[in-house]
Amino acid sequence: MSKRDYYEILGVSRTASADELKKAYRQIALKHHPDRNPDDPEAEEKFKEASEAYAVLSDPDKRRNYDQFGHAATGAGGFGGQGFGDFGDLGDIFGDLFGDLFGARGGRRRGPGQRGADLRYNLEIELQDVLNGMKAKLRIPKMRPCAPCSGSGAKPGTQRETCARCQGRGQIAFQQGMFRVSRICDVCSGEGSTIRERCTECRGAGRVESEQQIEVQVPSGVSDGARLRLVGEGEAGIAGGPPGDLYVVIQVKPHALFEREGSHLHCEVPISIVDAALGAEIEVPTLDGKIKMQIGAGTQSDAVLRLRGKGLPSLNSAHRGDHLVHIFVEIPTKLNARQRELLQEFAKEGGLGCSPRQENFLEKLRRLFD
Ligand SMILES: [Zn+2]
Ligand SMILES: [Zn+2]
Repeated sequence: MSKRDYYEILGVSRTASADELKKAYRQIALKHHPDRNPDDPEAEEKFKEASEAYAVLSDPDKRRNYDQFGHAATGAGGFGGQGFGDFGDLGDIFGDLFGDLFGARGGRRRGPGQRGADLRYNLEIELQDVLNGMKAKLRIPKMRPCAPCSGSGAKPGTQRETCARCQGRGQIAFQQGMFRVSRICDVCSGEGSTIRERCTECRGAGRVESEQQIEVQVPSGVSDGARLRLVGEGEAGIAGGPPGDLYVVIQVKPHALFEREGSHLHCEVPISIVDAALGAEIEVPTLDGKIKMQIGAGTQSDAVLRLRGKGLPSLNSAHRGDHLVHIFVEIPTKLNARQRELLQEFAKEGGLGCSPRQENFLEKLRRLFD
């Protein structure tokens, strides 16, 4: 099942600004909103599709990920079922967009506790891995929910209790002159709940430090510096809060022979003056192994030979770029007596049309100065 492109769904260009996105989404959402189209599955589908597209594209991080990895980044195909998962922000979008139209639908949901920290993991991969993609097993030291208390921090068998001071709001409002001001509750530190008896395993923290193994699917064609986001794989939340995300930052190690330029590869291959002059069969390294190539007689330094489709794939595409072989004709740096003698003899032979570039140059020189 192929998913439609998010930009296409909203009918905007890939460079659309946040305002343009919002406008486009608002239009589609108003037209297909379920409240206006009761019992119309097609409208509902369109509404859902647009909401999903907007949820991703309106978040700069998610949008960058989507631009880079397409739907793979949103969990449709990529990272072992990870992805953006539920659309937790949608309530905010609705509050923002439809607050006045449909009543504060959803509104700002304030969950309990505090969100866990995001984690960053630098993953070094070989250039060869970019060709086929790879599965990487990461060992991530992080805070995970404490098992005996299920992350609540309360002694197993007991529960966190709604904070009596703030009635679970986490904030206390008070009047200051004309203004109503609120501050974080000092009893529960804004968590909205308190613990009567602490869990002995985590001493009430609700989380413990541990090393976790996570398998990541690195897509083929991934670029150096790309970020894979694994939603919910960051540190556990505090006091029942949601977990943070894990960002895997890809670092492609420099290759001994190849230089990458997008989906193209460049490779310098030195040849001798004899092979350059006479032509020869040379061996050229590629990511698919060594390839034999014929070079013609009279091949010059800096000649570029193009091997089509031997470069790297683009992200989400099987189409591969090219492998460019840059010929470098190497002048011998050490000659023995016999070699010198042969070259001198070769020079004496001369011959018109033997070095056209040089002859052309000398001709221009003559015209200019004689
Ligand atoms: Zn409180
Ligand atoms: Zn515990």
